[in-house]
Amino acid sequence: MSVTYDSLLADITDPDGREITDPATDEVVGKVRFQSVDELDDAVARARAAQPAWAARTDSERVELLMKAADAIDAAAEPLAELLSREQGKPLNGPNARFELGGCSAWLRATAATELPGQTVVDDDETHAELHYRPVGVVGAIGPWNWPMMITIWQIAPALRMGNTAVVKPSEFTPLSVLALITVMNSVLPADLLIPVVGDREVGARLSSHPDIDKVMFTGSTKTGQAIIRSSADTVKRLTLELGGNDAGIVLPDVDPKAIAQDLFWGAFINTGQTCAAMKRLYVHTDVYDQVCDALLEVAGNMPMGRGLSEENVLGPLQNRKQFDIVARLVEAAKESGAKILTGGDPDTSAAGNFYPTTLVADIDNDNPLVAEEQFGPALPIIRYTDVDDVVKWANGLDVGLGASVWSSDRDRAREVAARLEAGTVWINSHGGVHPMIPFGGVKKSGYGMEFGVEGLKGVSVPQVING
Ligand code: NAD
Repeated sequence: MSVTYDSLLADITDPDGREITDPATDEVVGKVRFQSVDELDDAVARARAAQPAWAARTDSERVELLMKAADAIDAAAEPLAELLSREQGKPLNGPNARFELGGCSAWLRATAATELPGQTVVDDDETHAELHYRPVGVVGAIGPWNWPMMITIWQIAPALRMGNTAVVKPSEFTPLSVLALITVMNSVLPADLLIPVVGDREVGARLSSHPDIDKVMFTGSTKTGQAIIRSSADTVKRLTLELGGNDAGIVLPDVDPKAIAQDLFWGAFINTGQTCAAMKRLYVHTDVYDQVCDALLEVAGNMPMGRGLSEENVLGPLQNRKQFDIVARLVEAAKESGAKILTGGDPDTSAAGNFYPTTLVADIDNDNPLVAEEQFGPALPIIRYTDVDDVVKWANGLDVGLGASVWSSDRDRAREVAARLEAGTVWINSHGGVHPMIPFGGVKKSGYGMEFGVEGLKGVSVPQVING
């Protein structure tokens, strides 16, 4: 039977549950029951019981089932995208909801097809030693509200591929999207491999201290990541932490401003700026500063923002009021400091929804809060520089380091600057693109551990040496 929007919602909503509202209209999308810590314990016990049989299957059986789960996502992609758009706010089009669904199935397939074979590390007359990767056991996956489906797949696809089972706690802001995605996957997967538990912070806290959770995959804020490190200490849990960022983009003087403007724009404004590795501060050399600002302004003027379900929109609302308030506060601080608002900065607070207009802020100092703090929304500060040593110092001056980018027509020159930046990924002439085979992770307070590709599989495994 084909999946429709109504059938998806009917499977996951509860008339007595908590209301989840559409951030574009404030209308109720659905109601979801929040679960207790006892229910989490029950889910962990079921995932634990199911794990040995899943791990005992052959590689090819696991791959086949994960490929079927990817097919199921594709078959339900349109209703899933509609639900994601209503709950998260992101438009159907542009690099948004349909793009996220396409990414989910593509990632699942690519991860399923990735191998992590054992290897011989010493083989001589006296010793034969091999290194193998075994499943870690039960993985707890805790996710944020910005790319809720995609990030869930990033956490669970490698976990299942390696023979683990997973208990998934979605963000309290976007539980429907994750519940729907897992319901679709579970229509083809064996029972109890993948168990969602909707809950508040207490459920997340219990998951990260639970004695029967072996590994936590966490994506969210640095503050919560720190809480998870503390609460996981007693059980010595393995952790992969993808935390906050404040990515710098550095434009060298030799660029063609018009040619890079569109990519600069999406580097910063993808998902309306609510992206961990979005460009959050843009440093432009004084020789091309005015031209880059003009070119960005022109691109920004052609990017419609509005309700996600309207096909023409490519930018949407902030997902929640708390995030709207952060963006508004930071832009107000920039205005008060005398920075120049090139566009935006004037939200209509009487209108429905959490819309904050696309905002470009020029003539702003490096120590301004809009530069120094993570805005996580559609407001980009553009800082002028003259000396490359200064700009490298500024880019490295924060305690986070997820991504960064260097823009130049001279690739070698860009790579020289890239090598000096403290960030897990440095892109050249683009920003924020990810790939299922390219490892991704942060440095400093942006976290530790890597996701994706072979490194990602290692992250949900325990190494074992067989010596003899
Ligand atoms: P958040 O830290 O507030 O919440 C993330 C999740 O953690 C939620 O599911 C929440 O319920 C849970 N949680 C809260 N307290 C907990 C606790 N004590 N123990 C365990 N779980 C707990 O983050 P958010 O506001 O949802 O997401 C935005 C942040 O996430 C931004 O800082 C952004 O940069 C970051 N982020 C990072 C990446 C990345 O890959 N590095 C990707 C997306 C978002």
